[in-house]
Amino acid sequence: MIEVAPSIVKNMKSTIEKHTLKGMSFSNLQNWCVDQGESRFRGIQLFEWMYQHGINDPREMSNIRKSFRDYLITNCLFETLSIEQILSSALEPTQKFLFKTLDGLFIEAVSIIDGVRHTVCLSTQIGCNLKCDFCATGQMGFSRNLSSGEIVDQLIHVRKQTHQPITNIVFMGMGEPFLNYDNVMDAADIFHNQRGFDLASSRITISTAGILPKIEQFIHEKRKFKLAISLNAPDDVTRSKIMPVNNKWSIQELIHAGRAYSKMPRREVMFEYVLLKGFNDSEDDAMQLARLLKGIECKINIIPYNASGGIYKRPDEQTVNEFAKVLSGKRDTYRVLVRRSKGEDIEAACGQLATKSQENAHA
Ligand code: SAH
Repeated sequence: MIEVAPSIVKNMKSTIEKHTLKGMSFSNLQNWCVDQGESRFRGIQLFEWMYQHGINDPREMSNIRKSFRDYLITNCLFETLSIEQILSSALEPTQKFLFKTLDGLFIEAVSIIDGVRHTVCLSTQIGCNLKCDFCATGQMGFSRNLSSGEIVDQLIHVRKQTHQPITNIVFMGMGEPFLNYDNVMDAADIFHNQRGFDLASSRITISTAGILPKIEQFIHEKRKFKLAISLNAPDDVTRSKIMPVNNKWSIQELIHAGRAYSKMPRREVMFEYVLLKGFNDSEDDAMQLARLLKGIECKINIIPYNASGGIYKRPDEQTVNEFAKVLSGKRDTYRVLVRRSKGEDIEAACGQLATKSQENAHA
């Protein structure tokens, strides 16, 4: 049995005997084919059918011999998610997808089209247990990790439903990617693989609230994906107030790791900073942030807060621009960008993803 979450096993009696091939890494899929008495090349063909072509029905896998196709039909499970709802923004070409998992839980992904750029924001967990105070997902509690197949299937569904080629992937939806490290890396590798989605590693960004041991593992494994660290405050006291994870790993430790990553060839690190009105948006905060990131080759992404049902407010335009100006004025090794979130009217913007109750998520 591969990649079937325990809850699926419990709830989906009919599927427990089946192998879930979706999300299996390139080499594991080839090994699996060999275990079934097939060639390694068969694994490559299957990989291409699932990811390049988005085919879930073995009957359509025309270059695979009939007896193995029959075996796949009887013994394997290809579809891990169904589309429950698609919401389209009235303001811009942004769509939010609500998916239902095989065990009846809900997750969301967002497609954001901006000129030729088509970014898809993917979820990595059902809920999140980090409890960041300003984030809607943090308020909904944690159900389970997504399998790599469920992560990949979000992208396959979005690709089928939208017409513009996908150019960028961000792991910034529901959940903390680095608390589901192995499945996220398997999915990212499939997105990067030439026989999969063939996306450059620089177009795949993994955002973490700061799980230090996993950032270190990511560096140690020489991963090439873009690393984003959600800093959100310029000092530990302020950060701990909104991100409990800061009690475990401090700002200095995260910055140290971010710097180490950026020093590796062709790697890029980004620091995200959610701007909360009257909390972390002053000129002093900007100057302190500039001091912290001095000398690090990085991008600073300022995200004006999006409503998520908490006590926080978004600063006005002028404050946002002023904050960015103070940072940019320091003329250091970083670039400053203000991320104008898309899809606010359909609650698809950063920090707004939360499927209400699992039963009435689409009500
Ligand atoms: N758990 C990961 C990825 C998900 S959140 C992480 O924390 O990085 C993706 C980004 O959205 C993070 O930078 C997070 O700080 C930001 N974010 C969360 N809630 C937000 C909100 N309400 N408004 C704006 N940005 C928010």
